[in-house]
Order: sequence, then C-alpha cells, then structure tokens
Amino acid sequence: MRQRYYSIVNDPYFENGKKQDDCRKIKLCFTLHHFSNSKGERQNGLSTSYLNNLTIGDKITCSISQNTRVLKNPTSPNPKLLIICMGTGVVPFVSILSQIKNLALETQITMFYQCRDDSRTCYYRKFLIDFFTDRSNSSIHLICSRDIAHNTNTSGVITRKGYLKEAL
Ligand SMILES: Cc1cc2nc3c(=O)[nH]c(=O)nc-3n(C[C@H](O)[C@H](O)[C@H](O)COP(=O)(O)OP(=O)(O)OC[C@H]3O[C@@H](n4cnc5c(N)ncnc54)[C@H](O)[C@@H]3O)c2cc1C
Repeated sequence: MRQRYYSIVNDPYFENGKKQDDCRKIKLCFTLHHFSNSKGERQNGLSTSYLNNLTIGDKITCSISQNTRVLKNPTSPNPKLLIICMGTGVVPFVSILSQIKNLALETQITMFYQCRDDSRTCYYRKFLIDFFTDRSNSSIHLICSRDIAHNTNTSGVITRKGYLKEAL
C-alpha cells in the first residue's frame, strides 16, 4: 500500500511544561477524505477511514521522519518566518509555533491562514489566537472564505472575509 503522510501537531520534544530528550507522544490531525469513485459512488479515503476507525489501545505501524528543511536556523539574530497555509495545512506550523513558544524564541512571524470560517474549520484557533495576541513582533491573518463567527481583531490577530490571494 502506498504510504500517506501526516504532519505532527505537537512539539514532540516538550511535554507537561518540560523539554524531553526523546519523542514519546505525537498528535495527528486529519480530515476524513471522501471522493466519487469511477461508478459515481461516494467513497471514503483509505488511510483516513483507517485512522478514523481506530480506538484507544489499538497499535499501528508507521514511520517518522524529521523534516530538516523547516526552521533551519531558529537561533539566527532577528529570525523571520512567513507562514501561508490553509485547512489541515496548518498542522506542521502549529508544531513549529509550539516549538517557538516552548523555546521562547523571538522569531518575528507573519502568518496567513485560509479557512472556510473562523470556528469549526479553523483548526487550533484557540492556540493560534493565544499565541499571536500581544506578541508584539508578529501577526496572524485568519482569512475566512465563508463566515466570520467571532470577528476577533485584537493586537496581532486580524480576521477578515475573503481568499488568500487577495490577502497576500
Ligand atoms: C507532506 C504531507 C503532509 C500531510 N499532512 C496531512 C495532515 O496533517 N492531515 C491530513 O489530513 N492530511 C495530510 N496530508 C494528506 C494525506 O497524506 C492523505 O493524502 C489524505 O489524508 C488522503 O488519504 P486517504 O488514504 O484517506 O485517501 P486516498 O484513499 O489515498 O484517496 C486520495 C485520492 O485518490 C483517488 N482515489 C483513491 N481511490 C480511488 C478509487 N477507488 N477510485 C477513484 N479514485 C480513487 C481519489 O482522487 C481520492 O481523492 C499530507 C500530505 C503530505 C504530502
């Protein structure tokens, strides 16, 4: 079976407020994929159905690889990071932001995140808003293609209706 990739959501080297040497717990976030097959029938994705049907205590076989292309030099002076993502594409960046927070890095971050609305489809909304609120050198733009429920516009958090390409 062809392998599927999933990004790790958490900072795997930090747990319960402590840095740890090895990675013991990983969190994944996925959307149950569905599509129309050649007969025009609705079909669920193979691996997301599998993941969706797992229950606590189940064992799975997987492999983990670290992406060395991301956050190459976080300790450089005045590091800057531009993040552009949509949907579950936010997942690896939640992990990176967690690392930045846990290591108390001063990285200047500008983030654009496209979701359908700023509630149900805005994954990790609370974490993102807490992270960016009053982080003086950084900001997040939540771009909602459909509805804005919360209209959160605080220092560092800008919510607006529309599409990424317009915001950029
Ligand atoms: C680097 C990377 C990171 C990723 N991270 C995440 C993540 O964090 N979270 C996440 O949700 N996803 C992530 N993805 C996407 C993920 O890897 C899967 O592609 C996605 O979850 C769908 O997998 P699936 O097995 O459920 O769907 P599949 O069963 O593989 O179906 C995918 C597509 O294949 C075609 N297809 C399959 N079977 C048939 C059939 N019988 N007839 C016709 N067409 C068919 C359809 O077009 C369908 O839309 C990531 C991908 C990459 C490359």
